[in-house]
Formats: sequence, C-alpha cells, structure tokens
Amino acid sequence: MLHNQRQKGKITFDSKLGGVVDSQTITDAAERHPRAIRDLERRATHAASRPLAQALTDAQTAALRQWTLATRPGHTTPVGDALRTLIDHVRRLIRDAFTGRGRQAQRDAERAAHNAAQLGARQAAAIAAAMRGQPTPPVQPHIGEDAQAACDHIPAAMQDEQSRALALLTSAGLTAMGMAGLTAAFQRARRAVGRITTGIAVAIGSAAAHGARLVARTLGTGVRLVWVAEPDACPACRAYAGHHIRPGGLFPGGLSLAPQRTVFTAPVPGPPRHPHCRCALIPWSPAWRLDGMPLPTLLRRRARTARRS
Ligand SMILES: [Zn+2]
Repeated sequence: MLHNQRQKGKITFDSKLGGVVDSQTITDAAERHPRAIRDLERRATHAASRPLAQALTDAQTAALRQWTLATRPGHTTPVGDALRTLIDHVRRLIRDAFTGRGRQAQRDAERAAHNAAQLGARQAAAIAAAMRGQPTPPVQPHIGEDAQAACDHIPAAMQDEQSRALALLTSAGLTAMGMAGLTAAFQRARRAVGRITTGIAVAIGSAAAHGARLVARTLGTGVRLVWVAEPDACPACRAYAGHHIRPGGLFPGGLSLAPQRTVFTAPVPGPPRHPHCRCALIPWSPAWRLDGMPLPTLLRRRARTARRS
C-alpha cells in the first residue's frame, strides 16, 4: 500500500492515511536531494565569486594600459625605472582587487552554508516523516564544524593565491617573459576565484549533511544515516551509496568502484567526499517498516547499475 504523495517533486505524507510506504518511493525522493544542493551551490558560488573575478578583469585591463604607456617606441617591454614603476602599479592594482574580498567571501560562504543546513534538515525531516508516518520533531539547523572550517579557510586560501601572483611580478621575470609575464600573474591571481568556489561548495555539502545529522539525532536511538549518491556520482561516491552509520560516526575511508584511483583513505563523517560532491545523507532505521527491498540495499543497487537520466 502506498499512501505517500508526490507534490512538485517533493515527498509528503498524509497523517490521516498512515500506512506503509515502499523503499522505491523513498529512494526516488532521496535521489532528488542532490539536485537541490547543486542548485544552491550554483547560485551561491556564482554570486560570491563574481566580485573578485570582475575586479581582477578590471585590474588586468588597467595593467595592460599602463604597460603600453610605459613601453618606449621600438621596445616590447618597459625597461629600467619605467619597469619598476609599472611593477609597483600592477601590484597595487592586484592588492586593491583583493581588498575586503576574503572576508566578504567568507560571509557569503557562511550564509550559503546556513541555507544548506536548513535544506538538509528540511529534506531529512520530510523523508523521515514519510517513512515513520508521523511528523518529525523540529530541529534548529546548524552548519557544523566542517562547514565552518571550510568557510574560515577561504580568506587564507585567497591570500595565498594573491601572494603567489605578486611574487611573479619581478623585473627579471617581466624582462624575460614580456607581456606574457603580466598575463601569468593575473592568471595566478584568478585561482583565488576557484578557491572561493571550492570553499563554498565544501561548506554547502558539509552543512547539508550536518542538517540531516541533527534531524537523525532527534529521532531516537537506533536511527542511522544512509549515504545517498547523487545520480551522476563519481565511482568513489557510488561506492558509499547505501552505507549507513550512527549519527556522529564515520564512514570507512578509501571506498571506490574504481579502486585504482582511490586516494583518500581516511574515514569520513559523510558527504562531501570531494569538492562539488552533492551526495546526501538521510535518516533511516531498520525498525521503520518499509515495503520492498531494504532501503540501503536499494540505494546501493541503484548506484551500481546504469544511471538514469
Ligand atoms: Zn558524492
């Protein structure tokens, strides 16, 4: 008997009907979670990385203009004092492009992580309610330590890329490489944009998993957290599908369906297995009655067979 209903892609439950839901329906609903995480990640990373990307583009345009002005007719590279003045100017342009961006990116990441924790908790609560046939007690979502650490690391990571970019701007380097040396410094600086994107992606994945963890804790003893692989997951993540742990526990390290490429062998608290991993955790208890194949078995089997569109 199937009494659950799907509305606008979400699973809901009808307390008047009660009854037993089947594991197929739960798996379908759980496998829609990664899409919501991905959408949140896309919006957040785009918004947070754009100011630095634009500032660096503007700085590079200004630097190239200065280069042209400082280069005497018949030369391809400024020389002597003109070169030293140009280097000081370009360094200032790069520093200005970065000013305030690290803290801003950190705050953007924290906000995105907070939204992700709410999303993870909401999804976990809905799916637990469908399985248990009763409402899930409300929780106060929190982003968790891993997400906070990912947010906190962003300014230092950006600072590192900025320092490396500035270190490329030397008289010897620019004399040898010409304008390509200038371009190389800006390419290096742009890696900081990637650091923002990666940091936010990790913060979002960690916070979403933490939201689910908090829900699982409120549901009493014996409740587990099951790994749901995103529908086009990598071989490493697919190997985790259907594995389950107690809240606060760790998944084994080093699992992969392509073990020759496995590099991370330390146990993990949950997704993200890697930056931009959108796998999810959902609460589950062997004591909850579900029709059909056991939920962990079904998740595991789906991740190991041909992926659906
Ligand atoms: Zn994953």
